[in-house]
Amino acid sequence: MSEVTAVPTHCPYCALQCGMSLRPTGDPELPAEVVDRTDFPVNRGALCGKGRTAPSVLSSRVRLTEPLVRCPDTGVLAPATWEEALAAVADGLRRTRADHGPDAVGVFGGGGLTNEKAYTLGKFARLVLGTSQIDYNGRFCMSSAAAAHGRAFGLDRGLPFPLEDIPKTGCVILVGSNLAETMPPALRYLTELKENGGKLIVIDPRRTRTAEQADLHLAPRPGTDLALALGMLHLVVSEGRVDEEFVAARTSGWEAARAGAMSHWPEQVERITGVPVPQIREAVALFSDAPTGMVLTARGPEQQSKGTDTVGAWINLCLATGKAGRPLSGYGCLTGQGNGQGGREHGQKADQLPGYRKLDDPAARAHVAGVWGVEPESLPGPGRSAYELLDALGGDVKTLLLMGSNPVVSAPRAAHVEERLRSLDFLAVADVVLSETAALADVVLPVTQWAEETGTMTNLEGRVLLRRRALTPPAGVRSDLEVLHALAGLLGWEKGFPADPEEVFEELRRASAGGPADYAGISYRRIEEEQGVFWPCPTPEHEGTPRLFLDRFATPDGRARFVPVVHRAAAEETDAEYPVVLTTGRVVSQYQSGAQTRRVDELNAAAPGPFVELHPRVAERLGVAEGERIAVVSRRGRAVAPARITTAIRPDTVFMPFHWAGEGRANTLVNPALDPVSRMPEFKVCAVRLEPVASGDATAG
Ligand code: SF4
Repeated sequence: MSEVTAVPTHCPYCALQCGMSLRPTGDPELPAEVVDRTDFPVNRGALCGKGRTAPSVLSSRVRLTEPLVRCPDTGVLAPATWEEALAAVADGLRRTRADHGPDAVGVFGGGGLTNEKAYTLGKFARLVLGTSQIDYNGRFCMSSAAAAHGRAFGLDRGLPFPLEDIPKTGCVILVGSNLAETMPPALRYLTELKENGGKLIVIDPRRTRTAEQADLHLAPRPGTDLALALGMLHLVVSEGRVDEEFVAARTSGWEAARAGAMSHWPEQVERITGVPVPQIREAVALFSDAPTGMVLTARGPEQQSKGTDTVGAWINLCLATGKAGRPLSGYGCLTGQGNGQGGREHGQKADQLPGYRKLDDPAARAHVAGVWGVEPESLPGPGRSAYELLDALGGDVKTLLLMGSNPVVSAPRAAHVEERLRSLDFLAVADVVLSETAALADVVLPVTQWAEETGTMTNLEGRVLLRRRALTPPAGVRSDLEVLHALAGLLGWEKGFPADPEEVFEELRRASAGGPADYAGISYRRIEEEQGVFWPCPTPEHEGTPRLFLDRFATPDGRARFVPVVHRAAAEETDAEYPVVLTTGRVVSQYQSGAQTRRVDELNAAAPGPFVELHPRVAERLGVAEGERIAVVSRRGRAVAPARITTAIRPDTVFMPFHWAGEGRANTLVNPALDPVSRMPEFKVCAVRLEPVASGDATAG
């Protein structure tokens, strides 16, 4: 018998989009096995535990394989045919539109959806439903970096250079990123940097496994890295380290940014951040003295109510030292979600049309309306951001169609969001498993997974990738594109919503043509032949753009813009009642809301549940021992989880991972205060108090 061919593809989880191959097994319990794929340059065959175990979620044991419709009499979700389920969804959407108008119907997407799905979902919302009320969970991922990128450079692409440049630069400042847990195969870029003689500075309130690799680790109080960046810029100026030639030739707005930084004295910054002045000076010297350098941020500085300004302050540091717009130098965002990059380019975001066009730009509306064959005036305007949309559920938004997201676990102020979801007139969810959010739905549509469908993803480098279908999906599931195709048909749109992904991609190419994220020259064939193609790529002859901004920035005058910023406190500061800072994040063996990874035995064995990481001094004060349950209480609610005691965290701070539902749900506590520009909630900083939990007390929520 000939051996079954392995199909080259990519991991279903994070934005690194590691290359892997899948070989079908024919076993419904584990339908595919992962085969090494060393030719893909990003990970060169390395995978973390999530990627290696990803086929487990394909198992018939853990997934939905038939639609579910809530019975009006019993209130229970019961199996239904696809015809019944789709008719119920179409009816729910139609009824709300008729009774309350198109904006009473909301659509919520996800940063894991392929480009084709994100594109079709945005088009479906605007044409079929006519609603402005669409946004997606990627808003919770990298929106502050995207906004800061746009402000400074005129274009947002996570990394303006390929990952392979990182080991060749002189110094990397990694801000609020724990690559060792979030993207382990990417850690080798930092290891190679150090082997090449480059310096690594890590800025994180916790001494993480990533911070342990650093030449210098600065541990600011959560929510104060904006002040730290300003203090560093102050020293760059006062120590005469400004690259005056670069500033004069390639930037605008320096004087105002300089003035902002000069009001942040190092001693004052030490008081705000807790980082000693000598350490700040050392960081400035390491970065400034290096001939080339990069600042890479992740969710730490971004998930704040001042995330856009915080990222802007780090960009200002790059610009002042001439470390941008040059080979091996620049600012980049380590995007988190699998298609966090592509998902924000093609129209599922509240203010956006495909190709990273703006919904309020008349020329953009005219171009996209032309591709879609409608009048520009028929397109609704910008809608609410993700949290604002979730907060409006049950109010003026009465029905929600949700794809690829689990906000009951992942949204800030999660108990409130759960209550809002329960208050809807109608909720339809398309998912691969019965997530906590799907369990609240009136109709659940079981959909295909990454290995069972074809589609493109755009990784954190801006490299457009193709995931080819490797397996036949189980009977009873349909792809998200098939769902949207069928719903569009039921709602009177016989054409314009193809279920074939390549057909969608061909239209996406045309819709993106001439836009900031121009995919016009990218085809499935090219992606396969070239190990991905970097956008912008305007024509089939264009070679793609791995490195941006080397000649000019994407602003009208070609100059990068300094944006003046000043430090401000977190939206919620500690006080006598809530004296401790809570910060949240991820662990290596779970992914986001855990909807998939919590179905994998190996991952659950490695990371079985939530915990509260706290300093020994705090534990002693509370009388709590390792593993004992502890309550974390904020103004939003209460979560309970075992204590994990470590000196790796500041005594004024506790950390909780956010992957779990139930009493240990970290997002119950999180403050939904929004950044005024990016509308990013403040996941990384809120005020809490800690309480020991008597055994037998299970109170939470
Ligand atoms: Fe998958 Fe990300 Fe792990 Fe790579 S690092 S295997 S893309 S989860």
